[in-house]
Amino acid sequence: MKINFIDKSLIPIWEKIQNSERLSFEDGIKLFQTNDLISLGKMANWYSFTKSGDSVYFVLNRKIEHTNICVLSCKFCDFAKKKGEPGAYEMTTEEILSKLSDEIQEVHITGAMPPDWNWERYIDIVKSIHSKFPKIDIKAYTAVEIDFFHKKFKIPVENILLELKDAGLKTLPGGGAEIFSERVRRLLFNQKIGEKRWLEIHKIAHRLGIPSNATMLYGHIETVEERVSHLVKLRKAQDESGGFLSFIPLAFQPGETGIKPKEDFTSAIDDLKTIAVSRLMLDNIPHIKAYWVMLTEEVAAVALNFGADDIDGTVGEEHIAHDAGAISPMKLAKEQIIRIIKEAGKVAVERDVFYNPIKIYGNKIIGKIPYLNSIPIYHNLKIEGYKTVTLFPSQLGKMIANGDISAGLISLVDYFKNKDKLKISKWCVSSRNKVQSVILFSKFSWENLHKKRIGISEETSTSVLLLKILLLKKYNVKADFEIFNPSLKNYSEYDAILLIGDNALRELYNPKKDFSYTYDLSEEWYSWQGLPFVFAVWVEKQNFTDEIIVDDIIIKQNIDKNLSNIGNIISYYKSTISLSDDKLIEYIKGFKYEINEEENLAINKFQNLLEEINVCLKV
Ligand code: SF4
Repeated sequence: MKINFIDKSLIPIWEKIQNSERLSFEDGIKLFQTNDLISLGKMANWYSFTKSGDSVYFVLNRKIEHTNICVLSCKFCDFAKKKGEPGAYEMTTEEILSKLSDEIQEVHITGAMPPDWNWERYIDIVKSIHSKFPKIDIKAYTAVEIDFFHKKFKIPVENILLELKDAGLKTLPGGGAEIFSERVRRLLFNQKIGEKRWLEIHKIAHRLGIPSNATMLYGHIETVEERVSHLVKLRKAQDESGGFLSFIPLAFQPGETGIKPKEDFTSAIDDLKTIAVSRLMLDNIPHIKAYWVMLTEEVAAVALNFGADDIDGTVGEEHIAHDAGAISPMKLAKEQIIRIIKEAGKVAVERDVFYNPIKIYGNKIIGKIPYLNSIPIYHNLKIEGYKTVTLFPSQLGKMIANGDISAGLISLVDYFKNKDKLKISKWCVSSRNKVQSVILFSKFSWENLHKKRIGISEETSTSVLLLKILLLKKYNVKADFEIFNPSLKNYSEYDAILLIGDNALRELYNPKKDFSYTYDLSEEWYSWQGLPFVFAVWVEKQNFTDEIIVDDIIIKQNIDKNLSNIGNIISYYKSTISLSDDKLIEYIKGFKYEINEEENLAINKFQNLLEEINVCLKV
């Protein structure tokens, strides 16, 4: 993409971004210092598109702040009260339940730290919500609260998190990180945990299979250097544990804190810069949220073209920011959120707490898989009047089956399940012999995997079923399967793990000492059947007019052009895979993209084997 930079010093940074090179601390400072806001926004918007396409996520959520009574007295806080002080409140579990309903997807629970609650009361909140509303995703208790529970109730952090997870907790909120600066901590929140403990608690949560979010409170007394340092530290933590789902810059609300004059909110320019710089610096965090409660609806709407791909949700009721003078409304209706997203030229995607799509609002949408192996089809694939959403294959399959997406590559098994609603074209992603991106890492050989625990990702059903067929029909072995989240990198908890897509490719060249065996499932299939394996096929939604959305010729021209120019375009996509360009090019050239006779035979063979092992291919 061409950007006409007014600030030419941004050009080397833009080159780095386009070459998937990580930005340095100095680059972050330069981005904050530039006055070329439009160029900054264009870079961040482009980068956001490479991750999420045109999607902007939102959730039907409810914020619960169970109490404002706090043993601490942070200087920047206008929310906390002491027990007995006017305005102090505590909610009972019944009061909390009364604020929820079956329409809500996510409840976000954070509060102050009262002196006299017992551990059972916190657990009871989560358990009771989970039991009365099992479909609601529970995101509860910041790292600051978890540390408080640990100190007050003398329970190890691991046990606290495991008990909460057992009770129904799905993720941790990102609050309490404030700004990772010991100087600011001493001045504004010296009784609260600092960066080391906050990061440690999130790291433990990720190891235990609990993803989380991260925040940064800005616009008070912090320096630009402290903001960039916060981002760099968070990026390093994500490299290690991988469990941060989203990053939320929180604009400081001065209120009566006395830290700044009451009306001295952060400027829209500062808010947009912070969103954009966060998107560009945090190359390994999937989502950046424009939290409209603190930004205002108007600034959040603009932020959707400055790198944000999430606008939070309907919220319901919010006190922490509003007690400090936030001027945004208390809640937004779903229709308002969808309108804001559409007006920003994006596609509204209703999500759950893990960013799984629930519904996509729009009618001309191409679905895109975020794996390197589909670049030859998708790179520069522009269909007039259509937007793009990026989703994992199984998510895409579900959305195409729902009728939410018009066309795209979907997992072969999802095609089998929805044949009556879809038209298949002649394009696919298939491999002959080794594929390098569908790998079983195992502590045991195939024969010894009987009754062993295999972690499988939900990203695509086809590779999981290929694994099951190989185990049952080729090796006569029955293993136990458990869904796991590969981003959390807690691989060693399992006897074997199936990694798919770029995760598999990344780990293949980064040998895992826990696993003695590395099996390429496509190679296993080929040595058994002598056929290629078809992982995904290009499909279009059946429609009344029988109109073809993407012409075969357009896809063919795109594939040919991209494969002949793969050396140049690979840099846009290599992202966090630290493989040489040559290795990546060799990897992509190993795929076939056209369905020919052998691919058809392979598709039929796989379908027959699925029926033999009694996999239901009807929905
Ligand atoms: S910021 Fe949190 S911990 Fe600090 S006083 Fe307010 S409620 Fe208590």
